[in-house]
Amino acid sequence: MPGHARGAPQFDRPPTRAPGPVEAVPRTSGASGFRLRPEDSPEGSLPVKKIASSAALSGRAERIAQRTRPDSWKKPPRRIEKSECITCDTCLRSCPEEFGAIFDRGLDVVIIPELCSGCPACVLECPVDCIYVDEDWTPTDETMWNHIELTAEDAK
Ligand code: SF4
Ligand code: SF4
Repeated sequence: MPGHARGAPQFDRPPTRAPGPVEAVPRTSGASGFRLRPEDSPEGSLPVKKIASSAALSGRAERIAQRTRPDSWKKPPRRIEKSECITCDTCLRSCPEEFGAIFDRGLDVVIIPELCSGCPACVLECPVDCIYVDEDWTPTDETMWNHIELTAEDAK
């Protein structure tokens, strides 16, 4: 090749970087589903989930207590189309902790509109695209609210 003596090092391309110790990390939880390797974490621990602030979590507790959706949320809530859902729970794990709007009821997975900000992290993760905007949402019934309150109590 012109410009290069046979056997001399060639510098017209950057050297290929040797592969580092890449670790396969399972998607387990958190909004993004990604975890850092221990060596990437300042404390050397594995941050498996984004921790919501206590103020954000108390906002959820307030919404549960009042059973209302904040007027300040301008985006409509989302809903899961039951006939298309494969109940994989991926959306449940992706809903930010401060909203905690998705519940697996065994036979189906539902979004509680009063707790759903419409953010829409779950939509980005659903493998079958069955989460839709719910402009005409209806209030959650008493039975479900009682279940949510019990779940919230258990989490304390
Ligand atoms: S839109 Fe956001 S807040 Fe609503 S259920 Fe999905 S992830 Fe949760
Ligand atoms: S991610 Fe999609 S398919 Fe899986 S449970 Fe949620 S709505 Fe259903």
